[in-house]
Amino acid sequence: MKRGIHTTAIHTGMELEPRDVTPAIHMANTYLFESAEEAAHAFETEGQPIYTRWGNPTIEVLERKIAALEGAEKAVATASGMAAVSSALLAALQDDGPRHIVATTGLYSGTYHFVTKDLPRFGVQTTLAEATDPAAFETAIRPETRAIYLETPGNPTLALNDIAAIAQIAHTRGILTILDNTFATPVNQRPIDLGIDVVVHSATKFLGGHGDAMGGAVAGPAEFVTRVLKGPIRNFGGCISPFNAWLIARGMTTLPLRMERHNANSLRIAEWLHDHPGVAWVRYPWHPAHPQYELAQRQMPGGGGGVVVFELKGGVEAGARLLNRIRLCALTVSLGDVRTLITHPASTTHRSVPRETRIASGISDGLVRLAVGLEDVEDIIADLEQGIGNW
Ligand SMILES: *Cc1c(COP(=O)(O)O)cnc(C)c1O
Repeated sequence: MKRGIHTTAIHTGMELEPRDVTPAIHMANTYLFESAEEAAHAFETEGQPIYTRWGNPTIEVLERKIAALEGAEKAVATASGMAAVSSALLAALQDDGPRHIVATTGLYSGTYHFVTKDLPRFGVQTTLAEATDPAAFETAIRPETRAIYLETPGNPTLALNDIAAIAQIAHTRGILTILDNTFATPVNQRPIDLGIDVVVHSATKFLGGHGDAMGGAVAGPAEFVTRVLKGPIRNFGGCISPFNAWLIARGMTTLPLRMERHNANSLRIAEWLHDHPGVAWVRYPWHPAHPQYELAQRQMPGGGGGVVVFELKGGVEAGARLLNRIRLCALTVSLGDVRTLITHPASTTHRSVPRETRIASGISDGLVRLAVGLEDVEDIIADLEQGIGNW
């Protein structure tokens, strides 16, 4: 019988540890061989631990959980989300010849810089296609296009890519699709079921969920994931620490439970902000005011996620006042924590994105990003209310 999502999150990976109720933390860089023959054999086959950058039993527990929840054949865990993003793209672009990718607008800022600055330095061209328009992706495709890169909901605009429509366009042309599923998590959205080939994650966010360990993952067909491991992870070195893998795997046992609460708290807060007279606009995938509400209902059946964005009527100044007044919400970057975190992207995470590009991609000067935590929702609302004050 196919197991449910909570059971999968808790039990998957533990088949590697039949005698323990929690995984062991294998803080070892290398593993002993009993003979020269065994050492030689380990290098010829898969699966036997040799050296932690190439694989480790604790890391494998995490990889199995992520693969199971995403419905992927295989996953490889990485040092951070950016190690996952860059490794997946480097593996997709490893052949010789002219190379081009199409990426969505509204990318995470690290990804934006990687595809628009770093890749071009290695001779790879990037075209950005309007996130909400599948036809723009089709138009941007060239004969040398090797991959289409999506991120939905986008950070921090919460613009949605129509996953099934874009996957269809890519597949009729034999182009690989990669999707950053950090914001939705596999609890709310399963891109592989919608036709996507490869999913990447910043496990630093919801997967780990407690704001205490950085990590990432690439999940997809076994052949591609093995290419990521044997190429970029081994040779560029973005492997995860076994201790971080252990923390994230532990966090993942409650991922489906936490997401239910992130979803419920966020929807409630989006509704409250929507009705507040001092709020100019609010956007949340599961709130009817989101321009792609119907698409969100279709491709994010689990819920709208844990991020709400809004702008106060007083623009940048009112936003700054709110950030200086809040007490419960933590003024930080990042998201996907048990605590509620609040960010002003224009002055922090997106500071280095040119203003016109930022505004064109929907990140206005006064946009506030709220990464809703698991506190009692009335307490979060009370903090926002006193923070917004007399607007
Ligand atoms: C945070 C984030 C990343 C980068 O992850 P790190 O773990 O910080 O390297 C990539 N994509 C999205 C959508 C993110 O939110």
